[in-house]
Amino acid sequence: MDMRIALVPGDGIGPDIVREAVRVLDRIGEIYGHGISYTEIDAGGISIDRNKVPLTPQALEKAAASDAVLLGAVGGPKWDAMPGELRPEKALLGLRSGLGLFCNFRPAVLYPELAGASPLKESTIAGGVDLLVVRELTGGIYFGEKGRSEDGQSAYDVMRYTAGEIERIARKAFDAARIRRRRVTLVDKANVLETSRLWRETVSRVASSYPDVELDFMYVDNASMQLVRDPSHFDVLLTENMFGDILSDEASMITGSIGMLASASLREDSFGMYEPIHGSAPDIAGKDIANPIATILSTAMMLRYSFSLEKEARSIEEAVERALADGVRTADIAKDGEERIGTAECGDEILRRLV
Ligand code: NAD
Repeated sequence: MDMRIALVPGDGIGPDIVREAVRVLDRIGEIYGHGISYTEIDAGGISIDRNKVPLTPQALEKAAASDAVLLGAVGGPKWDAMPGELRPEKALLGLRSGLGLFCNFRPAVLYPELAGASPLKESTIAGGVDLLVVRELTGGIYFGEKGRSEDGQSAYDVMRYTAGEIERIARKAFDAARIRRRRVTLVDKANVLETSRLWRETVSRVASSYPDVELDFMYVDNASMQLVRDPSHFDVLLTENMFGDILSDEASMITGSIGMLASASLREDSFGMYEPIHGSAPDIAGKDIANPIATILSTAMMLRYSFSLEKEARSIEEAVERALADGVRTADIAKDGEERIGTAECGDEILRRLV
């Protein structure tokens, strides 16, 4: 298969971690006989420095012309004083909305070797944590009409969803559940919100085409409790934009390892943008100590969701699992007394374990 990938290294540790991910992708290409070509795009602070804006229309066009995008991270103190419209983070929003990415996948996985990093009690995580938050990304209250009264003393934000918007993301969630443990939990506030009742109706209708996948419902207040009481309950957690924003951060936190978690932003066709959930970590940029695993695992998601290459995706995930089991640790995941290796060496260790 030929793959055309747009690389957006971005700022801070972005270029270092993307470099390691590209080495892993190249090796997968060699082992499995795929041709991979890259085109590099400036976005975020580096684009502000070079082009005076966080994302140029040409950069967006290049991204749109690729099969998938791999992004490092954007932002840093150098650009913190920029006005809102010119901040590096605008590049992310520009890419997500410009590319029509309505569906956000954020897996939260607790690696047994790193269980000590979780803030939860050992007995709570004994059943494991391996869940996928599927968050609607381009609708709901963040995008609805908003405003203030003339005297400024009342304000509103409208939450609106169409059945079509719900149906397309529900299908993504059920398809994902089919290659996982076949269970979808719809998280909503259907006891209060009309939009949530439309979500229940629509998701139930979609579920009838997936008889092999179990569907259950949970109110969002309860879900936020269950995530820290019994995270093993969840396989695929499907939810709307604002609830997903909050719950995906909570779910990541229970794994305790920000340098380990990947994400995907998808649309109806196979195109997607893949990135670690962490930021540009300016405090450690250029020191060869950043953990590249979240970005490497983002390439596994890319192979799975944009190219349907499950075997290749698993090969990367298993190489990471084996490296962790063998004691490979960057500083952020090392316990006292454990040997710490740098970004490039961590990449080497994972490359060596790819089969
Ligand atoms: P951050 O995620 O960059 O860093 C938080 C902490 O985690 C830091 O101590 C950092 O050193 C550590 N960390 C993060 N990733 C790591 C990795 N791979 N390996 C080892 N340690 C890692 O969050 P922040 O400090 O709040 O933000 C820094 C900049 O990143 C800001 O400009 C922010 O706006 C931007 N940001 C960008 C994205 C993105 O590009 N998607 C996301 C979040 C924040």
